[in-house]
Amino acid sequence: MPLYENQELKIYNSLSGEKEVFKPLTDGYVGMYVCGPTVYSNVHLGNCRTFISFDLVFRYLKHLGYKVRYVRNITDAGHLENDAETGEDRIAKKARLEEIEPMEVVQKYTVDFHNILYKFNNLPPSIEPTATGHIVEQIEIIKEIIDKGFAYEANGSVYFDVLKYNESNHYGILSGRKLEDMIANTRELAAQDDKKNPQDFALWKKAEPQHIMRWPSPWSVGFPGWHLECTVMSSKYLGDEFDIHGGGMDLKFPHHECEIAQGQAATGKNPVNYWMHANMLTLNGKKMAKSTGNNILPKELFSGDNDVLSKSYSPSIARFFMLQANYRSILDFSDEALGAAEKGFHKLMDAVALIPNLPTSKNSSVAIAEWKQKCYDAMNDDFNSPVLIANLFEAVKIINAVEAKKATLTAEDLKELKESIHSFIFDVLGLEAVTALENNQDSERLANVVELLIELRAKARANRDFETGDKIRDELAANGILLKDSKEGTTFSL
Ligand SMILES: [Zn+2]
Repeated sequence: MPLYENQELKIYNSLSGEKEVFKPLTDGYVGMYVCGPTVYSNVHLGNCRTFISFDLVFRYLKHLGYKVRYVRNITDAGHLENDAETGEDRIAKKARLEEIEPMEVVQKYTVDFHNILYKFNNLPPSIEPTATGHIVEQIEIIKEIIDKGFAYEANGSVYFDVLKYNESNHYGILSGRKLEDMIANTRELAAQDDKKNPQDFALWKKAEPQHIMRWPSPWSVGFPGWHLECTVMSSKYLGDEFDIHGGGMDLKFPHHECEIAQGQAATGKNPVNYWMHANMLTLNGKKMAKSTGNNILPKELFSGDNDVLSKSYSPSIARFFMLQANYRSILDFSDEALGAAEKGFHKLMDAVALIPNLPTSKNSSVAIAEWKQKCYDAMNDDFNSPVLIANLFEAVKIINAVEAKKATLTAEDLKELKESIHSFIFDVLGLEAVTALENNQDSERLANVVELLIELRAKARANRDFETGDKIRDELAANGILLKDSKEGTTFSL
């Protein structure tokens, strides 16, 4: 029997503003779509937090026994600089500045994105479609929306008619905004604007002569509006109605609001049952922004090469730190908080390492089954990873008490404790034991030891004790540490 039959998972649904019992459309299967990155620059840490949050969701659903189809797109066209759909295409602009092809920009930053998420131990999604790979489908859905009377053409561009849509539907259902307020708060349309109303958004934009990313369509040579790709790719791979849609909090409006409107207009169905939004990351109490310098890239975090933090932190520590907060809360990155997470992480891993050698007894003085259900209760409560982690630290206490012979466990309970801890730490939270090289402190210690051995080897060689000298070199090599002799002395690589 799959685990999900015994566990009642509740998800905070942004659409209702409440935690709701999760019921997938098809028993045992989950369709999940998460808005992926616009690949025009290195992925920033705030985005990583969003994707780590949804990796936790993906992992827990799988752990519960669901077959999950997780679709996360790559935006490689159509995302303009401003939310008001003005300015250059972000990718085309980068291509112009770097004097390379737009697809080179896309390739470069897609690779960066994958590398960084791999370091954070995120599982890859089941399908990772691109906007440019779905232009045909986007044109088809625009035709449908026009046919249903919810979009109009103007000067080669096509716009979604928000006022018309709102007559029979609710534009603002997700963000809680009222169309009347939106209208009252917007400025007049500029004379050159083709839109009927400022709230209308582009489904297709006619390309200006200088716009290099362009495709033919029935209306003009142009490009799709940014919101459309997610409607097209989610419905293509998950159906007109699917279970979970996620993304960063900043995408709730207008992006996700527009997705609902487009889906509803094209099919007459509400596309998504559970909307989930991950909160943002701040740095030293302030919003991260390149312009103010209050910013740090993941690779700068891992290498320690930055002006914000005093030392480097491994991806596992950073992931553990992020999971110590609920995905719906704002999380602040600081030296102090990361340092505390690092200590906690090692305490947890040290306890895990003790488990195989723990003594067993005829009776248990601790109720392991109850402890295990508390872990599930935490995750069933809208993926509450900080409470799960607090329960794992309860297990650390149990392990240490058994080690010190102040508590007892039967062989069966010990097995259950071990299996549960392993699945929660490694499968659900997706943490990895930090290797010596990954952990900065340990690698510093290792380097000191190697330096000492190099010194001893030099001494042995000076005394013509070549046997000892070679033994040091060979043993180090056998452990992957290569010595290189030169006129300047001996160096090593790990
Ligand atoms: Zn999206």
